[in-house]
Amino acid sequence: MEKIANYINGELITPFSSQYMDNIAPATAEKYSEIPLSDNSDLDEAIKAAEIAFPSWSNLSANERASFLLKISEEIKKNLHELAKAESRDTGKPLSLAMNVDIPRASANFEFFGHAITQFSSESHSGVDSINYTLRKPIGVVGCISPWNLPLYLFTWKIAPALASGNCVIAKPSEITPYTAFLLSKICKKVGLPKGVLNILHGKGAEIGNEIVKNGKIKAISFTGGTATGKKIAEISAPMFRKISLELGGKNPALVFADCDLEKTVDELVRASFANQGEICLCASRIYIESSIYKEFKKIFVSKVKNLKVGDPNQEDTNMGALVSAQHKEKVINYIQLAKEEGGTLLCGNETLKLNPPYDQGYFLRPHVFENLNSSCRTNQEEIFGPVVSLNTFENDDEAILLANDSDYGLASSIWTSDLSRAHQISERINTGIVWVNCWMKRDLRTPFGGMKNSGLGREGGLEALRFFTEPKNVCIQY
Ligand code: NAD
Repeated sequence: MEKIANYINGELITPFSSQYMDNIAPATAEKYSEIPLSDNSDLDEAIKAAEIAFPSWSNLSANERASFLLKISEEIKKNLHELAKAESRDTGKPLSLAMNVDIPRASANFEFFGHAITQFSSESHSGVDSINYTLRKPIGVVGCISPWNLPLYLFTWKIAPALASGNCVIAKPSEITPYTAFLLSKICKKVGLPKGVLNILHGKGAEIGNEIVKNGKIKAISFTGGTATGKKIAEISAPMFRKISLELGGKNPALVFADCDLEKTVDELVRASFANQGEICLCASRIYIESSIYKEFKKIFVSKVKNLKVGDPNQEDTNMGALVSAQHKEKVINYIQLAKEEGGTLLCGNETLKLNPPYDQGYFLRPHVFENLNSSCRTNQEEIFGPVVSLNTFENDDEAILLANDSDYGLASSIWTSDLSRAHQISERINTGIVWVNCWMKRDLRTPFGGMKNSGLGREGGLEALRFFTEPKNVCIQY
C-alpha cells in the first residue's frame, strides 16, 4: 500500500511516529494509500527548516521568487491529467470537474501570485513638511491549513501568496484528501524550490493541525474550513496577537426575481446548488423565488435536478460523484431527515440509486430539493455542505433582503434579475462578502474573497492576500 510522505526541508520523509491512517477513495469505499500521522517532532523539524530558509528566501528579488512560482504553475499544467485523476479519486468528485476547475485553478493560483508579486507596491503619503512611505516585509514562518472540498485549489490559494511575498510555509492539507498535496511536494522538489521554503505536514486536524496553531513560532495562520474550527484557531491565536485569516462556512442565499431570464437562471442555480455534490462553501442552499414565478421555477428546476447523473466519477457525462466520506454522507442524511421533521416537503431525491460495482459501495447521494421550510428552521440556518437545497418564496424586494440576511453566515449570495437598478440596490443591502448578479462562482483572482459574520475574518485574493502575508512598517521623513 502506498504511503504518503511529509515534505520537510526539501525531502519526502516518513513521520517520526511511523504511524499512519487509512486514505479511502469515496467512490468505491476502498483504502488505497496511507497518510502520515505527524506530531510535534515533525513540526519542530519543519519549523527549523523554514526558519533557516527564511533569510535567503525573503531576500530574493520578487522576480526570483516569482520564477519558482511560475515553474510550479507550469508543472501543474503539464501534469493536469495525473493531478485531476488523483483529486477525483481522493474526493469522489467527477473527473471532468477536477480537469476543468480544481487543477487549472491550482496552476492559476501560482501563476497569478507569481505575476502579482512583481506588481505589488506599497503606499507613500506626502505631506507639507514630510513624506511617509510604507515598507511591506514578509512575516516569517506562516501556517496554511486547508479543507477537503477543493483540495489542491484551496491549498495553493494560500501557499502561493505566502511564498510570493517572501514567507516560509508550514502547510497542512485535510487528512480526508491529502493526495494532491503530496503530488505538489514532488513538483516542488522537481522544480528545485529551495529547501525549507515550503513544508507540508500530513495528519489529523485535532492533532498536528492543533499543534501548528498552538506553536508561537508560526507568526500568521491562513485557514479555510469549518466555522467551529475557525473559532478554536481564533481563541488560541488571540492572546498571541497573531495575524489570522479565516475562510469559514456559508449558508448562501439566491434571490430569483420574476424578471430574470428563467431558463438561464434555473440552469445556473442547478449548478450552484449541486456542483461538487453541493460541497462548495459558495453553493446556493437557500433559494428564494418571487412568488409570481414560483410554480414555474419549481417545475423546471426539479425536472432538471432529477436529470442530473450521479455515479461513476470517470464518466464524462456524470454531474455528481460521491460525497467525501461515509461520515459526511451520514451527516447529510441526518439533515435530510431533519428537514422532513421540520415540515419540509421533499420534491426530489429519494429515487433509488443503483450503481454497478465498484461504485455500489461508494458514498453517493441523489440531489435533494425541499420546499415549505420556514426561514428560522435548522435546515435553512445550518450549513449542510451537501446536495440539499430548499426553495422558498418572497413577495417583494424588502422581504427578499430580509430573508437573505436572516442568517448567522455571510459568505456569498446571488441575485437573478434583468433590472439593473434592482441588482445594484440589492447588492448594496445584502450582508455577504461576495455577491454574484446573474452568475455564480465567476472568479477574478484580483478581487477580495471572503465572508462576513460567522463566515470568516479577513479576505483572500489579489492584494488582500499579499497584504495579509506582509507586515507594514511606516517610515516618516521630515523634509
Ligand atoms: P474542518 O474545519 O474540519 O477542517 C479544515 C482543516 O482544518 C483540515 O485540514 C483539518 O485537518 C484542520 N483542522 C481541523 N481541526 C483543527 C484544529 N483543531 N486545529 C487546526 N486545524 C484543524 O473543515 P472541513 O470539514 O475540512 O471543510 C469543510 C468546511 O470548510 C465547510 O464549513 C466549508 O464551508 C468550509 N469552507 C470554506 C471555504 C471558504 O472559502 N470560506 C472554502 C471551502 C470550504
